[in-house]
Amino acid sequence: MNGLLRAPGEIDEEPAFRHMDFLPLGILVLDQGMRVRFFNACLEFWSGLRRDKVLGRQVQEVFPNLTRGTVLPRLDDIFLGGPPAVFSYHLHNHLIPSPLPDGGLRLQHGVAYGVKGGDGGVERVILSLQDVTELHTRLSDNLRITRELETEIEARKAMEAKLIELATKDHLTRLDNRRAFFDRLDAEIRRSRRTGQPLALVAMDLDRFKSINDRFGHQVGDEVLRNFAEAASQGLRGTDVLARTGGEEFFIILPAACGQDAARVAERIRKTVEAGTHITDNGDVVRYTVSLGVASLQETMDMYALLYRADQALYAAKAGGRNRVHVDPGEPEPSPLQA
Ligand code: GH3
Ligand code: MG
Ligand code: MG
Repeated sequence: MNGLLRAPGEIDEEPAFRHMDFLPLGILVLDQGMRVRFFNACLEFWSGLRRDKVLGRQVQEVFPNLTRGTVLPRLDDIFLGGPPAVFSYHLHNHLIPSPLPDGGLRLQHGVAYGVKGGDGGVERVILSLQDVTELHTRLSDNLRITRELETEIEARKAMEAKLIELATKDHLTRLDNRRAFFDRLDAEIRRSRRTGQPLALVAMDLDRFKSINDRFGHQVGDEVLRNFAEAASQGLRGTDVLARTGGEEFFIILPAACGQDAARVAERIRKTVEAGTHITDNGDVVRYTVSLGVASLQETMDMYALLYRADQALYAAKAGGRNRVHVDPGEPEPSPLQA
């Protein structure tokens, strides 16, 4: 008897597909009338439906999920010679509902393709379903772990940046602190030795700062320190380093600058500070000045010698009446008689 003429449920499965029975894939074979011609053991196991309840029946009747979206039209299209179809598990899930012991449904990734008959036309469409539940769980776990790691790495980076900031910055002015200043000065002296470029240093100390504290209070003193940091940083080059090395003591490292260049920078800062008035949150008007000492790196100097020269120049500026720039003379020029 011709199988196509039998009543639903009476159609035998097709022996040609028997070898697919025990594949670890769900295999469903359809004829041109969209009737089920083969339903393998794996699908029986997944769906809980015995094949004799499925064979010969219209597939959309048994599995209504197949009527969702474009699934049926695409299967139709394969019969008309169209390309294979992929039903990815996040777009077309549960085509053949397969309950899991935990109450969920198995995730399936489907591929449908045609099998030609003797006349060259597509006679059967095979829908093959792969169980991707575990894969999906693993992928989402991996994704979650990756995200958690990324968050942790970000947090660590932020903490590291914070620690570096704490170790190298002055909390009041956000300028480099004493420690960072020494590191930078050491590095710049090495660079100057390597490249042969000059290097200058400006030492600065606010004048009679104690009296500002005494008159306006310590908090206003802090505001003045921030105000000075702002004023001194104006007009510096990106490679210059402005640091707060102590209470009201600051330094500027000027790479590739000679004593004269540094003296110009120092004088500009002195004038800016002298001309400026600082108005505090309380409305107090504070005027203050700064003394500056300039020294430049000489061949015979190490870091401490350079610092000493800059300090001595600063001391000379203070001794000379404050609110002034004193420039260290550097190495004495060899006298013409010695030459
Ligand atoms: P000179 O012109 O000789 O430099 O006089 P001076 O008063 O500036 O120098 P002195 O060294 O006698 O006083 C420095 C003052 O700076 C004393 C100290 O209380 C104050 N000071 C140090 N650190 C801070 C700070 O972080 N904030 C404030 N408000 N004051 C500070
Ligand atoms: Mg001072
Ligand atoms: Mg001082």
